[in-house]
Amino acid sequence: MTRPARVVIDLQAVRSNLQTVKRYAPDQKIMAIIKADAYGHGLERIAKQLSGADAFGVACLEEAVRLRQAGITKSIILLEGFFCKEELLQLSDMDIQTVIHQINQLEMIEELTTDKAVKVWLKIDTGMHRLGFDLDQVQSVYARLQQARGSKKEINLMTHFASAQEHDPLSVETQLKNFAEVTEGLKGEHCLANSSAIMEWPDAHGDWVRPGLMLYGVSPFVDKTADDLDLHAVMSLESELISVKQARKGERVGYGGTWECPEDMLIGVVAMGYGDGYPRHARSGTPMLINDKQVYLIGRPSMDMLTVDLRNCPHAKTGDNVILWGRELPIEEIARCAETIPYELLCGMRMRAQFVEING
Ligand SMILES: *Cc1c(COP(=O)(O)O)cnc(C)c1O
Repeated sequence: MTRPARVVIDLQAVRSNLQTVKRYAPDQKIMAIIKADAYGHGLERIAKQLSGADAFGVACLEEAVRLRQAGITKSIILLEGFFCKEELLQLSDMDIQTVIHQINQLEMIEELTTDKAVKVWLKIDTGMHRLGFDLDQVQSVYARLQQARGSKKEINLMTHFASAQEHDPLSVETQLKNFAEVTEGLKGEHCLANSSAIMEWPDAHGDWVRPGLMLYGVSPFVDKTADDLDLHAVMSLESELISVKQARKGERVGYGGTWECPEDMLIGVVAMGYGDGYPRHARSGTPMLINDKQVYLIGRPSMDMLTVDLRNCPHAKTGDNVILWGRELPIEEIARCAETIPYELLCGMRMRAQFVEING
């Protein structure tokens, strides 16, 4: 493919971010979260860099199977559990572990007659009100699991925070307290913290941590950059200028003509659009880098192209490299300009632009 839009993946940065996780949580085991195709970075590619993790967390059986087919023998946990009996049979067969969060999953495990029991992580809703058993169900679910032939006897206990990234102590402390109360007297390893809790809430580290975003070198906090946290961006989104031209004062740029040239000026067109995963809602003024200079998006991005104000970069020419986000230009900033979060931008990258690996 010769169209210049590309996603550059820095493999060394993945390994370095895993070391950073270990510095924040030195005594914990690490379940590296690589759901959603490793947050858009490529499942197998990222898993191979994370040999220092203790387990992988994925969203569905298909991702787990892909990892096994890639020769990965490490523990794999299905974060949403299985969706039907056939899946349960398959994961028992392939030695894949599972979260359970509702009664019908428990019932399927009770009905499982194979002698390959599955390892279960019991998910408790301590306050996020998404997945998990209610606090008053936990004791009985745990007891039933211990009786069930389909479940291994060592059951792990898990919950997820709603607001650790918002520095919301009341919410995190309430969830911690609920978790401690409801798991009192139950055997099993504890697993609570996502990236923001790993960095902000040492009390929540438990026995296992579950980093996602920080492995990809991105800050979950609005008031702290990746640099502040010693994280290195893994993904850069890059392309090239495919046209440079002079525009006149008063001319309008792009669909809907939302941006008007305030003077005679140089503008450029970049081979990058929402069809590649660049956010269509990025506002005029969203930064990008050309020849180490910051330049700004003008008008609405279209499917394969976007337009840029080149007044800061008068010598720019067709073929010059453009960085849309990456090490020198945090994706967190682009997400703010598009009124979204970096998670969404990363996941949008399972795309037709080519992937290039560096620092393997
Ligand atoms: C996605 C996910 C994580 C990782 O969260 P980050 O904020 O990306 O670190 C952890 N636990 C569960 C249950 C998840 O679904």
